[in-house]
Amino acid sequence: MALLGVLALLWVKQVVGQRLSERRRHRYRVVCSVCGQVFHDPAREMVVTCPACGRHVERQEVLDI
Ligand SMILES: [Zn+2]
Repeated sequence: MALLGVLALLWVKQVVGQRLSERRRHRYRVVCSVCGQVFHDPAREMVVTCPACGRHVERQEVLDI
């Protein structure tokens, strides 16, 4: 019984960790409104430069579905 509890706990921990890392990846995702390029920018600035077209793009909240 205790072993089952430990296994369940480990599984939940793993799932939560995956969700968090996925969310973190999404937070850095920027979609260029000019050319539609999707890229990652780890900086926290609201305005980033698109690597594809070189325009300044305003960071938008990416909504999870
Ligand atoms: Zn662009």
